[in-house]
Amino acid sequence: MQTVFSSPARYTQGPDSIEQLPSEMALLGLSGPVLIVSGPTMTKQLESRWQRILGSVGIPYRMHLFPGECSIAAIDEVRELAERTGAATLLAAGGGKVLDTTRSAAAALGRPFIAFPTVASTDSPCSAISVIYDHRGIYDTFHSFARNPDLVLVDTKIIVKSPRRYFIAGMGDGLSTVFEARACVRGERENLRGGLATVAARDIGEACYRTLMEDGRDALTDFDAGRVTPAFERVVEANTLLSGIGFESAGLAAAHGIHNAMTVAENTHPYLHGEKVAFGVLVHLMLEEQPPEVIEPVVRFCKDVGLPTTLAEVGLAETDRTTLENIAQAAVEPGELIHNEPFKVTAPQVVDAIIAADAVGNQS
Ligand SMILES: [Zn+2]
Repeated sequence: MQTVFSSPARYTQGPDSIEQLPSEMALLGLSGPVLIVSGPTMTKQLESRWQRILGSVGIPYRMHLFPGECSIAAIDEVRELAERTGAATLLAAGGGKVLDTTRSAAAALGRPFIAFPTVASTDSPCSAISVIYDHRGIYDTFHSFARNPDLVLVDTKIIVKSPRRYFIAGMGDGLSTVFEARACVRGERENLRGGLATVAARDIGEACYRTLMEDGRDALTDFDAGRVTPAFERVVEANTLLSGIGFESAGLAAAHGIHNAMTVAENTHPYLHGEKVAFGVLVHLMLEEQPPEVIEPVVRFCKDVGLPTTLAEVGLAETDRTTLENIAQAAVEPGELIHNEPFKVTAPQVVDAIIAADAVGNQS
């Protein structure tokens, strides 16, 4: 098998990077009209800025209000609008779901895609993958496209004002990258780009973990004070770039597999992707029977920054055995990510690992 690595064509991050949009587009040969897709909050917050930034250089654009779920219907709506209005470039401003929806529409049309994440909450912005949910919000499948975004533009002055919970969740998502990369490398499993992990992808996972451990707590303090500091910048990069290309080019395994499976339990729906992934990391480590020196720093980090370490903290307080068995069953369906672990995983093992993770979280 080949080794494959893929990434966005360009990643630009910093305070007021939104102002760089016209020059970044020019550099990459991207043109208008631009279709900007965003939810109600970001539409309100950024509308006048887009107008000034794009209007001042004569790049035509129009805005589309995102309905809230990355579903086939939402993707079709964006695709049809982009086609009908002759959009040359699609830009999504917001969280993972609006990015995934717009990415899918751009891919269907073969047009360039700019990701403008306004939260550092998931590993979605840099990837070439969209996670599709059904109309009930249950994980359905993911679509993998040929190209990563043409541009990922991250404005840290906007991120520092995003909801606190999202920033923390992003660290939870980033926490998983190294462990899933190690599992895939050990098992010589295919990454999400159809090849084996490069040294680069593997080391990006390690760098992501190291950055979170060294800077995560300080970055949260800076976030709370509304300060864009070097530590904060590094953690935004860990959550967005390192986590994003790390997972995609090294691979996913049990942590994200558990996340996906947990969505069958409706009580987990109010919890963010990264929050569920953080608990998934603990289950992942239990499943692999990792030693305390691997598990303890992860649990301590989660507790310090406020990431879930127990079932109760992902909406599964007093969960009966049947619910756990349903989650475990969903996790071990053929073709699911958990099978990227370098050993055979069965449903009873998953139930035990969930219970063990919850016990460790409750003890610590
Ligand atoms: Zn993720």
